[in-house]
Amino acid sequence: MSENAIFPGDKIASIEEYEAGYNTFDDGDMVRAATIGKKDIDGSARIANVRHPKMLSIPRVGDVVIGSVAAVMSSMIAVTIEFINGNPTAAKVECVCPIRSIRKKNVALVGDIVALKIVNHLNGTIHATIMEPEFGVLFTKCRKCGKRVVQMRDAIKCTECSWIDERKLSTNFGNGDFVNLRG
Ligand SMILES: [Zn+2]
Repeated sequence: MSENAIFPGDKIASIEEYEAGYNTFDDGDMVRAATIGKKDIDGSARIANVRHPKMLSIPRVGDVVIGSVAAVMSSMIAVTIEFINGNPTAAKVECVCPIRSIRKKNVALVGDIVALKIVNHLNGTIHATIMEPEFGVLFTKCRKCGKRVVQMRDAIKCTECSWIDERKLSTNFGNGDFVNLRG
């Protein structure tokens, strides 16, 4: 955990200043942590919370996430989040990302590794964008034979069968660090 990790019983705030929020309790004098986690003070609502490590795996608006594509629909992709701002997460939270406006034969395939930015939480669903240059596919394979592909300008070409295809590539495409995610 980071340097501001807190432990059960740790003092979070004075009850004169803050109410006990989630994962905390009020001992009559202080708001204290009921779990390990990270202090999360809501200054405007005057509530002191503790974010449990499991809650830390829920990305916030503005976070950059990397994950594997779980489903591809005509208007969106669903992505299982593996990293939030570069930190691995084991919780397997999913987000959705609209792709309707992207003119590519295949924006991404199931199993591709993509980078996205979280834009909002709406009706219990986490929404992301792929529209900026650094967002998009980091790792993909040939749709025909499943072998390695290389980038050719905006397209990709299979090193095995020479099939040429398209993805919404990230400017970080080809960064091999993510190959290990494929297991
Ligand atoms: Zn191929």
